[in-house]
Amino acid sequence: MQFGLDEDQTAIRDMAAAFAADHIAPHAIEWDETKHFPIGTLREAAALGMAGIYVREESGGTGLGRIEAALIFEALAQGCPTVSAFLSIHNMCAWMIDAYGSDEQRARFLPGLTAMDTIASYCLTEPGSGSDAASLRTRAERDGDHYVLTGEKQFISGAGASDLYVCMVRTGEPGPKGISAVVVEKDTPGLSFGANERKMGWNAQPTRAVRFDGCRVPVANRLGAEGEGFRIAMSGLDGGRINIAACSLGGAQAALDKALAYMGDRRAFGGKLTDFQALQFRLADMQTALTVSRTFLHHAARALDAKAPEATQLCAMAKRHVTDAAFEVANQALQLHGGYGYLAEYGIEKIVRDLRVHQILEGTNEIMRVIIARALIGGR
Ligand SMILES: Cc1cc2nc3c(=O)[nH]c(=O)nc-3n(C[C@H](O)[C@H](O)[C@H](O)COP(=O)(O)OP(=O)(O)OC[C@H]3O[C@@H](n4cnc5c(N)ncnc54)[C@H](O)[C@@H]3O)c2cc1C
Repeated sequence: MQFGLDEDQTAIRDMAAAFAADHIAPHAIEWDETKHFPIGTLREAAALGMAGIYVREESGGTGLGRIEAALIFEALAQGCPTVSAFLSIHNMCAWMIDAYGSDEQRARFLPGLTAMDTIASYCLTEPGSGSDAASLRTRAERDGDHYVLTGEKQFISGAGASDLYVCMVRTGEPGPKGISAVVVEKDTPGLSFGANERKMGWNAQPTRAVRFDGCRVPVANRLGAEGEGFRIAMSGLDGGRINIAACSLGGAQAALDKALAYMGDRRAFGGKLTDFQALQFRLADMQTALTVSRTFLHHAARALDAKAPEATQLCAMAKRHVTDAAFEVANQALQLHGGYGYLAEYGIEKIVRDLRVHQILEGTNEIMRVIIARALIGGR
């Protein structure tokens, strides 16, 4: 039992950990090398309720909270951070449809999403706007009961493989109030995808540009009212940031576990690496960093579930702190493996490569500081 978790939460975490150990970890290095996106494995996870974790039960979801989601994504990331992170994006999209969609949209989209018969991607970033997302330019012109979309999204996780694209598009004035959220279905004429990007990590999921060239999307696919898209996108990201931090935590925990095992075997200067007090202290600091991160992450997750006024700030703090701390721990674990940490077969360098991007996406860690500072300084 982990202090602070009840029996159900412990059982959920153990279920996800067992799934990761049996179905993800044994293949993680190969999926990274071959750039394999394991949709079949994701569907198996969905069958255990992990594709609509915080989608309400009445909408066909699992009806759990953000802390349970954090436990699941941490556990899955111990098998592979990239696979866990994609599932977290899919969960974020499913939640956005549950939270902001109409009854008709929930009935149309959620059964497929929660079973992962359909897969979802989140499309906010554009070639000319990442951190400054509210300046996005993809146009959606109204034409009768359709929008006609023209523009391009950049860096879209799952693009090409996904069936549904939750897209933030401009339906009105410049700035955040002119943005709406629409669900674009894969076979819509005028929708196309760029090449799979060659990346440092996150190789077990594709990243592509998504292009709209006169793409006609029914107005019935808009989530919420016109002009609400930016707010919807940001509220999805509050939870997304908890999830991505949990993925970092799981990756770093796996790296620390590997380092501990390795150091118990590896001998130098007549003893085991774990005999050196300098290295023991390093391990103690790594364990402390992960425990502090986990404790604070769960605090932020509870605040989001409770709809606390400071939830957005706490999610930004958690994302910033945990993804930085976890990257550092994973990098230290690599160092503690010596030259073997640099070899692909030990699985450590992959974790470091995978975790690096968590400091960049779902809002860079600089933008997390912008959010925290804005709330702190306010009108002063
Ligand atoms: C592998 C991968 C997968 C991704 N998946 C998705 C996805 O599925 N959907 C999606 O919509 N996006 C996705 N992204 C995009 C990601 O969210 C953006 O890359 C990120 O938000 C940063 O935007 P940018 O790359 O345009 O950098 P920029 O915004 O150009 O930033 C460049 C640098 O300037 C800093 N900076 C910018 N503004 C400020 C400021 N005001 N103060 C201080 N520093 C600032 C940034 O922190 C950064 O260090 C993905 C990216 C990657 C690499």
